[in-house]
Amino acid sequence: MKNTTLSKNKPIIEDVKISKEKLEKFNSITKHSQYKHRVIRHYSGGNCVICADIPSRKIIEDLEGYGQRIEYYCDRCFTKWIVS
Ligand SMILES: [Zn+2]
Repeated sequence: MKNTTLSKNKPIIEDVKISKEKLEKFNSITKHSQYKHRVIRHYSGGNCVICADIPSRKIIEDLEGYGQRIEYYCDRCFTKWIVS
């Protein structure tokens, strides 16, 4: 697996699960809202770190005694992250 070469601490990759109903609901809320990114965070826990869109993956890195770093990625940006 390519992930193991990314860092000494193998990051944990989790799916961010948002139900279809929630997604539809917040699509209607966010369409014209200036609070789009805040609404996304409320529903999914965070925004994509690259484009601030709705995330589909959560990457948790252990910082050896310095806690955890959690980053969210959407499908598009996650694909780029994998190949980089
Ligand atoms: Zn993104």
